[in-house]
Amino acid sequence: MDARIDIDETVSIRPISRRNVIDGLRQLGLRTGDRVIAHVSLSSFGLVEGGARTVIEAILTVIGSGGTLMMPYFFPPWYQGAFDPWNPPPTTCGAVPRLLRTWPGAILSLHPTHPVVAVGLDARPLTEGHERVSSVGKDSPVDRIAKMGGKVLLLGVTQWVNTTIHTGEAYAGVPYWGRPRPDRPRGRWAIMPDGQKVWIPLPEYPGDSAGFHKIEPFLVERGLIAFGLIGRARCRLMAGQPLIDGVVEFLSRDRGGLLCDRVDCTFCPWARQFLSEHAMAVGPKSGIDDRQKRGQPCWSKNC
Ligand SMILES: [Zn+2]
Repeated sequence: MDARIDIDETVSIRPISRRNVIDGLRQLGLRTGDRVIAHVSLSSFGLVEGGARTVIEAILTVIGSGGTLMMPYFFPPWYQGAFDPWNPPPTTCGAVPRLLRTWPGAILSLHPTHPVVAVGLDARPLTEGHERVSSVGKDSPVDRIAKMGGKVLLLGVTQWVNTTIHTGEAYAGVPYWGRPRPDRPRGRWAIMPDGQKVWIPLPEYPGDSAGFHKIEPFLVERGLIAFGLIGRARCRLMAGQPLIDGVVEFLSRDRGGLLCDRVDCTFCPWARQFLSEHAMAVGPKSGIDDRQKRGQPCWSKNC
């Protein structure tokens, strides 16, 4: 994929302006009125005049007042105390979502481990009730924005951080999706906007994403990714729903196709074992193996 992008080394010594980012986003295919979930590595651009503010302003300029910008504001589940959306723990998703949370009109959803922050016309319907639904699976904000015709923007990051692929895993019904994990809390206390402290159950956790790059050739083959370069940042733009559908198709052929091969991974070896035990427990009578061989999805209620 990177072979498609020629890096002009002289770009790296010039600071990236707001105009450069706006032009780059438009070349990539971002349009007025778009709803977009963006994953951004600020340092990947090289030097950006105005830093995170410039990137946010550029995206908001392109999508306009009729568009919506959403970003993940995830953090690890081990922080101390109750989740307070007015004073949340620092996100691990970088400087750009940290700044977006302070943007005029920004809404942080109330999920205590996988909140999103959104600005724009559909910020409220995207974030509303997140604490009562899946973190990143069905009916999560990530799913909702795809269903609303939204796009997925990766700026200087790879498919590794593409949360919408987790949503696709949920729709694919891979047996490891959302299984309770002994190394994760089953819920968290959270402070609601009315000041009430409530227990929010966390029945599911997305798995590992280190193997998500494996789907990129499949998506490229179907013409589902637009590539571009802004400064030194390699950028990708995809439509959300076709991406989810693509993940479902990909996983119908290989249920473990998005698990990683890192020796230090604590999730994927467990997930592979689980897939293998699940296949044995369900057995050939269900016809799952035959369906998988034919590249069709599994419809077993146990899946
Ligand atoms: Zn892994």
